Amino acid sequence: MGDGSPASETLAARCCIVGGGPAGMMLGLLLARAGVDVIVLEKHADFFRDFRGDTIHPSTLEVVYELGLLEDFLTRPHQKIHLLRGWIGDEMIPVADFSHLPTRCKFIALMPQWDFLDFLTQHARKYPNFHLRMQAEVTELIEEGGRVAGVRAHTPAGSLEVRADLVVGADGRHSTVREKAGLETIDLGAPMDVLWMRLSQQPGDPKESMGRFYPGHVFVMIDRGDYWQCAFVIPKGGFEEVKRRGLDAFREEVARGAPFMRERVSELSDWDHVKLLTVAVNRVREWCRPGLLCIGDAAHAMSPVGGIGINLAIQDAVAAGNILSDPLRRGPAGVDQLRAVQRRREWPTRITQRAQVLIQNRIIGRVLTAQAKSFSAPLPVRLMRRWPFLRRIPARLIGMGVRPEHVSRDLRQAT
Ligand SMILES: Cc1cc2nc3c(=O)[nH]c(=O)nc-3n(C[C@H](O)[C@H](O)[C@H](O)COP(=O)(O)OP(=O)(O)OC[C@H]3O[C@@H](n4cnc5c(N)ncnc54)[C@H](O)[C@@H]3O)c2cc1C
Repeated sequence: MGDGSPASETLAARCCIVGGGPAGMMLGLLLARAGVDVIVLEKHADFFRDFRGDTIHPSTLEVVYELGLLEDFLTRPHQKIHLLRGWIGDEMIPVADFSHLPTRCKFIALMPQWDFLDFLTQHARKYPNFHLRMQAEVTELIEEGGRVAGVRAHTPAGSLEVRADLVVGADGRHSTVREKAGLETIDLGAPMDVLWMRLSQQPGDPKESMGRFYPGHVFVMIDRGDYWQCAFVIPKGGFEEVKRRGLDAFREEVARGAPFMRERVSELSDWDHVKLLTVAVNRVREWCRPGLLCIGDAAHAMSPVGGIGINLAIQDAVAAGNILSDPLRRGPAGVDQLRAVQRRREWPTRITQRAQVLIQNRIIGRVLTAQAKSFSAPLPVRLMRRWPFLRRIPARLIGMGVRPEHVSRDLRQAT
């Protein structure tokens, strides 16, 4: 593709969304509901990918409620987190209490991302104007008369060309759309990477997700019902050094983070059981060009601090749906309308990233370089143990975020 040879298949839609992640599927659902002809192109054959973000926050659950889909969502297997606790050294401190949030669901729901995407897809497929093509990997943008006019993709059946009035790049942190559109990225940096792994659960394990901070390490355990999803935070670029020290040394470090799992760390019998997430925090300067808009991770890769990447992606999709569905029903969306999406979402993104970078540098970075004797919880965290109401502040920031979006009345009424 991209060599000028004719495509084996050509399609047309009002809007072509590249990427069937949380941002792309939610926007696809919203636009389809509004009566806009929309096609989502996803490069994978299914949504099944391990160690993706699985935290559905109260503000996303509120959106699901506003769409009238909460009852169905809650019938699907999930776990609930009402209170987040952190172990700082040997001290356990509750840090975020979601039970007071002004939302319908006062908890974080843990649902495998593929189940959440299946849920969105099932509802989107009820609309005849919604189309999803799996195994369609976008490789090129089609540009005509100074604007983006569609995309070219590889599929198992050959090349595919989709012509559209609007192309939305929702293709994640390594976005092809962003790169092909030449959108400039601002990199905010991160002092850490994350190693993901799973360890089995056994009777008698504490039934709660928690983060453990101890000199040199941060270890997070997420209760997934029958297993623990674990994140082991390491200094940026440090995975090779971890490997060099050997699997036995790594298992010992993991056991220090979760002493009750000491007997189980042998389940990590191979480095293949450990997946590296290279942490990046960045955002594009301009989210749009004529005929093109980026949302979700494609517009801003978030730090894993707070586990809010999915939430931000969904919030972008809701803002884009609210602002663009009406214009797109009538014709192409103008660049001013695309800029309105950036204006709406850029500020919450900047504030959230600033807070994440602060926590990365002031707390996580210090823990990673801490010596045993200098180690203690920072004052604001210690105060949370004494004054429980302070736990509502992080709960609000994590659970609802900055400027939570609500589905417009128009889109709520459309069914
Ligand atoms: C290991 C890991 C753990 C995480 N944990 C959490 C967490 O606990 N909580 C949380 O909120 N966030 C977490 N995140 C971040 C979260 O997954 C993302 O922020 C969120 O998924 C972003 O959604 P998105 O739709 O913008 O992009 P993505 O979810 O990345 O979706 C992009 C989609 O586009 C597709 N795609 C890519 N390129 C193309 C192409 N050229 N053509 C067609 N399709 C394409 C991809 O296959 C993918 O399905 C985690 C991320 C990682 C990597």
